[in-house]
Amino acid sequence: MIPAAFDYEVAESVEHALGLLAADPDAKVLAGGHSLVPALKLRIARPSKLVDIGRLSDLAYVRDAGSQVAIGALTRHVDVQGDPLLQEHCPIVSMTAGKVGDPQVRHRGTIGGSVAHGDPASDLPSVMRALDAEFVIVGAGGERTVGAGDFFTGVFQTAVGHGELLTEIRVPKLGDTTGWSYLKYHRRAQDWATVGVAAIVHRDNGTATSASVSLTNMGGTPLRASAVEAAIAAGSSPAEAAVHAADDTEPSTDTAASAEFRRHLARVLTERALTQARA
Ligand SMILES: Cc1cc2nc3c(=O)[nH]c(=O)nc-3n(C[C@H](O)[C@H](O)[C@H](O)COP(=O)(O)OP(=O)(O)OC[C@H]3O[C@@H](n4cnc5c(N)ncnc54)[C@H](O)[C@@H]3O)c2cc1C
Repeated sequence: MIPAAFDYEVAESVEHALGLLAADPDAKVLAGGHSLVPALKLRIARPSKLVDIGRLSDLAYVRDAGSQVAIGALTRHVDVQGDPLLQEHCPIVSMTAGKVGDPQVRHRGTIGGSVAHGDPASDLPSVMRALDAEFVIVGAGGERTVGAGDFFTGVFQTAVGHGELLTEIRVPKLGDTTGWSYLKYHRRAQDWATVGVAAIVHRDNGTATSASVSLTNMGGTPLRASAVEAAIAAGSSPAEAAVHAADDTEPSTDTAASAEFRRHLARVLTERALTQARA
């Protein structure tokens, strides 16, 4: 389909983008366009104006930030995938960026667009939830930092309000005693996850002492598998803990899978991810 008519402005700076957004309550930010343009073509999104932030190169970076790694919102998936700092300190992020879509999507799509879109089937939001990442949001009222637990608020909804920009994502550096895994089941190589599981495991001599586990596409937002985490903390094996992976989830039934199959996938992938992360 052809999108409904819209105006188009190129932002020259973050301040310029904020001004353009403030002037039009129906304007939308355009980053890589790989989620927004399909939505425009289907007329699911009908903004009056697109504010293109694609040329704000000062928002494309990966930096050492002490105990964290800071990633600019406009960093493309391919650059996240290949970044040496992330590969050294938080490899679950770079590895997962390499699982997003196909090379064309990874060369255009941005990490900021991926999390701001709030799609429960997306991979990086789930990884951010497991990592307890932080999100820096700027708007007319200044800058605020939101934790991953408060950032994803619903299907295609996040804490980024109208007139605001997500500028940075901060992830923790993982130490030598922390293992990780992100597994996704999808029917074709470039597809979104039917179900995905991100696991961060703190281990001692091959035994998991605590874990953060997040589920992709098992509800309206990335969901922490709290019952699995509690079981690991109580000394359960990955197999014992994974039995609880679908507790308190609300997976949908669609053309890719039934809700019941998604629950099954969550249990299978959680056991595998915990085992991989513990090794
Ligand atoms: C064929 C195909 C396959 C894909 N496969 C996968 C996959 O396997 N896994 C996966 O996770 N994703 C997948 N995607 C989605 C892909 O990761 C998108 O690139 C990403 O979700 C959106 O990033 P973008 O930069 O293109 O954002 P855009 O499409 O430009 O924007 C998306 C939304 O975020 C908002 N936004 C963007 N940046 C900001 C910002 N800095 N501040 C505030 N709001 C902002 C926009 O207003 C819009 O609402 C796929 C996409 C395609 C087309």
